[in-house]
Formats: sequence, structure tokens, C-alpha cells
Amino acid sequence: MQMISRASSAAMASFTCSRGQSGLCVVPGPRQLCLRKGLLYGFMRLLSMPFKTLHLASRSLRVAEFCSISNMSSSLQIELVPCLRDNYAYLLHDMDTGTVGVVDPSEAVPVIDALSRKNRNLTYILNTHHHHDHTGGNLELKARYGAKVIGSGVDKDRIPGIDIVLNDGDKWMFAGHEVHVIDTPGHTRGHISFYFPGSAAVFTGDTLFSLSCGKLFEGTPGQMFSSLQKIMSLPDDTNVYCGHEYTLSNSKFALSIEPNNEALQSYAAHIAQLRSKGVPTIPTTIKMEKSCNPFLRTSSPEIRQSLRIPDTADDSEALGVIRQAKDNF
Ligand SMILES: [Zn+2]
Repeated sequence: MQMISRASSAAMASFTCSRGQSGLCVVPGPRQLCLRKGLLYGFMRLLSMPFKTLHLASRSLRVAEFCSISNMSSSLQIELVPCLRDNYAYLLHDMDTGTVGVVDPSEAVPVIDALSRKNRNLTYILNTHHHHDHTGGNLELKARYGAKVIGSGVDKDRIPGIDIVLNDGDKWMFAGHEVHVIDTPGHTRGHISFYFPGSAAVFTGDTLFSLSCGKLFEGTPGQMFSSLQKIMSLPDDTNVYCGHEYTLSNSKFALSIEPNNEALQSYAAHIAQLRSKGVPTIPTTIKMEKSCNPFLRTSSPEIRQSLRIPDTADDSEALGVIRQAKDNF
């Protein structure tokens, strides 16, 4: 197994976050556990260093890399698990209790492999939306581990094996970590994003990608615009974990409509370098996306000029034109 250290802006950002409410004993459970979590967190903050490790190993010919990211400033570890051709599932591991969840397991086998390597169980399956390439592993993982499936109330009839229904504005606890549920429709009707404020992490499924957004299968440009605005209201240093590794191809479209954006030019060069080594470009950050993602830059004069979007068009209309141009790119 090869180990690579990478000090990216995203990694640096992840070490400036604080646990927020997690140390305030909001978790139902023994007082002693909460105190221990607070003490442990303080101790780890002292010891933590700004680094990120990526463990690369060959899993199969189709998926060249397995990647693990440890965020030592929080007791929540987030591990990327490549699935299918370009999907990511994410393993969430609470280091204090050993509780493990997975976000969007498109297939079971890579998740089982990742759990087995560390001899871990699975307690929760979190789904951002109903598409098979985000829920395909639900039933097998549920049968094997007895994990509870969590998803949107809007899509409760379309999420295989759903046990816990969450809706916009709900706060749910994952092993002492507060999780905010944000309704983010546009790609599908019942799409939700999971925000972990104490770990500065948001799981955006197919709503926000690095340098793009999801296709509008079940929603309007207006709905997608409003969903993206909700995500953009999170702190700039929030790490964004999305459903697919599309960043390199997205960068080509973004550069085609905003070629003079210097932040985009340097980010595109950076991610091309990462992909040439087989390294994931995820997580990205809210700050990076604001600077570079064309779907968050609907008022950019250069983008509007490139796509002949009139000044009178509002942001939702502009997003619709950008989405159409991307669909035909
Ligand atoms: Zn989808």
C-alpha cells in the first residue's frame, strides 16, 4: 500500500473547523460519554497536524484507486470508497464509539471490502436520493449488517429498505455528530444533502459536483438554483463530498465558457494533475466552488457573454441556459 501526503487548500480548511455543538452534550446518552468526547476532542486538537493522507491501492481494473481520508481534528473519519465507474460512497467512522455509516452505497461489494479491511460493522446507510447508482447496495448491506436506511420523506417510496425518514430542516444525530438535513431538489424531487457542521462536511449527492451540478431529471432550473444557494450559505471552508468523480470533464466545460477566470485556470490545472495520478479531486470546498463552478456564477459577465444570456435573464434562467449548454457539450 502506497501512502501519499497532500496539503491541499481543502485539507487545510478541514483542520480549521471546530466540533461545534458536539462537545456540548447534545447527544442523548451517558454524561460521562459526552465528557469523554469533549476531552478527547480537546486532546486531539492539541495533537492535530494539518495533513491529509491518501491511501492508494489497486482494487480492480475498473476502479484504479481506493482512497481514505482522515480528518484528525474531528472524531469523524470520512473515507472515500470508489464504486462503479465514477461513483463515490463515503464511509463515516466515529472514532469514539466505533459507529460506522455509509453515504450513497451504489454497490455493496466495495463497501463490504472497506469495512472488512478494518473489521468494522455498519450501523447506518444514508441516501441523498433514490437513483440506483446511490442506493444499489442498500438491501445487501442492510441484510448483512442490519444497518438502518435513512432517506428523504419525499422519496420514501423509492428508496430501497428505508427505515428512517428525514425532511428539510431535520437534525439527526450520528453517534454524537449533529447532522442537518437540507432539502436540495432539482436533480430529483426528493434529493437531500447531509451537513455535518462539527466536521465542516456536506454530502451533496448529485446536487452539487465540483465545477458542475446534477442534471435536471425531476426539477426546474429555479429549484436547482435555490438548492445550490442553500449549500452556498454554508461556511466557505466546508468540505464538499459529492456523488461522482466528474471534476476533470466538468473543468473542460467550465473553461470553455469562462476561459479568463484565473481561479478556474489554476484549479483545472491542479485537478488534471491529481487525475493523472489517479488521485480523487474530492473533497472540494464551498470557497473553491464559488470561485470556479459556472452553476454558482450565473451573474458572471464572461459566462453570460459566452452563452448569449441577456442581462434581463435572472439567475435561474441563466442556470437553465448553462445546464442546457453543458448537456450538449
Ligand atoms: Zn442521481
